[in-house]
Amino acid sequence: MRHYQAVIIGGGSAGLSAAVTLKQNGIEDIVVLEKDMEPGGILEQCIHNGFGLQTFKEQLSGPAYAQRYVKMAEDLNVEIKLNTMVTKLNADRTIEYTSSAEGVQTISADAVILAVGCYERSRGAINIAGTRCAGVYTAGQAQRYLNIEGYMVGKKVFILGSGDIGLIMARRMTLEGAKVYGVAEIMPYSNGLPRNIRQCLEDFDIPLYLSHTVTRTFGKDRLEKIELMEVDEHMNPIPGTEQYFDVDTLLLSVGLIPENHLAEEAGIQMDPSIKGPYVDDSYMTSAPGIFACGNGLHVHDLVDFVSLQAKRAAEGAARYLKNPKDRGETLAVKPGENVLYTVPSCVHPNDAQENVEFFFRVRKPMDEGTLEVTSGDRVIRTMKKKKLMPSEMERVIITAKEIATLDGEVRISVKEANA
Ligand SMILES: Cc1cc2nc3c(=O)[nH]c(=O)nc-3n(C[C@H](O)[C@H](O)[C@H](O)COP(=O)(O)OP(=O)(O)OC[C@H]3O[C@@H](n4cnc5c(N)ncnc54)[C@H](O)[C@@H]3O)c2cc1C
Repeated sequence: MRHYQAVIIGGGSAGLSAAVTLKQNGIEDIVVLEKDMEPGGILEQCIHNGFGLQTFKEQLSGPAYAQRYVKMAEDLNVEIKLNTMVTKLNADRTIEYTSSAEGVQTISADAVILAVGCYERSRGAINIAGTRCAGVYTAGQAQRYLNIEGYMVGKKVFILGSGDIGLIMARRMTLEGAKVYGVAEIMPYSNGLPRNIRQCLEDFDIPLYLSHTVTRTFGKDRLEKIELMEVDEHMNPIPGTEQYFDVDTLLLSVGLIPENHLAEEAGIQMDPSIKGPYVDDSYMTSAPGIFACGNGLHVHDLVDFVSLQAKRAAEGAARYLKNPKDRGETLAVKPGENVLYTVPSCVHPNDAQENVEFFFRVRKPMDEGTLEVTSGDRVIRTMKKKKLMPSEMERVIITAKEIATLDGEVRISVKEANA
């Protein structure tokens, strides 16, 4: 059985950044396993610009951003096996994969980095009543058809869900000549980045129906009509608010979920608040030597943070490979008031090696709030924050020195001003 120092599962932004970082840290014997026929992941179908503002201080398209990392990986002689699908990961870091070139193979590694991305919630997950006719797609599926395969998925379109993919597809379909009748969002606020609301809806006069949802689809072979209803504060449709739109296409942008079946099958402990694995401050999961990052850990808003997090995970893996010691007791880091989740979810106060940057999301929009980090009864950090949105990831750094002094469970909270 071929043994590697490190195997990276997934060759998207996270996997490529992790591979480059491992090489830069002297870990030479590595391989990236990617099921698709080219590296780059989801970025390959995101032909709009807006990528890389933080990393490269430039506005790049998705494929252009991916290409930068592919080039870095090539320059460092990273081995990338394409058309190679990992079918099983075990906690002892043996991996089964299948590829047309090699058939079914089993390999092992001293460290594994999971960089597997996420998948979209589909119609089955949201229970829309009506016939199962053609013309209902997830937004990412439609994006792939349009931008990679070259198929126009419909002419008269309605979009459910105001996440970024839904917003971007509203603009994309309009630019391709379709009529987009509206975007409906069940929450009273949009789940997309503010810049995408401006650039994808307002600039094209596409209405956004907040606190609305699609309740029914009509059509025999192909979609003909949808029913839209307003919802109350409990998200129940309000009788009498029915509106009908004659459309042939409904795009669903109703949530992304980390691709977690490999981790679950390996018996890795999962964090229900992110639907990905629990990770410590070096991005190691509950299985020694297995690390996780990118959208396969928790869904990110910007690719720059995916690349950054994957770099940290690979630095953690490189440290582990050079010195695979037990780092001692962990202290949990938990979401407090108004915070949905925090990543990483624990630290090692007795082995605080680096400053740790925590990623978190707030539960609801807030004009102003105070971020508070506490350990037990002690306040470690407070910071004023403005314009907080659940769609945008927030970050806070706790220094290695501060981590070394932590003595009680850590909580990250946001107290809303004037609440
Ligand atoms: C439509 C859309 C628009 C976006 N717009 C922006 C934007 O404007 N600006 C911005 O900064 N960010 C944007 N983002 C976010 C950003 O692009 C993503 O967060 C980031 O690219 C995710 O990278 P990843 O490597 O974690 O996942 P992915 O890119 O999904 O990569 C995961 C890779 O793992 C592979 N894989 C999965 N399972 C296996 C397996 N079992 N075996 C082998 N390989 C496997 C997949 O094939 C894939 O290539 C957007 C995202 C989407 C979906």
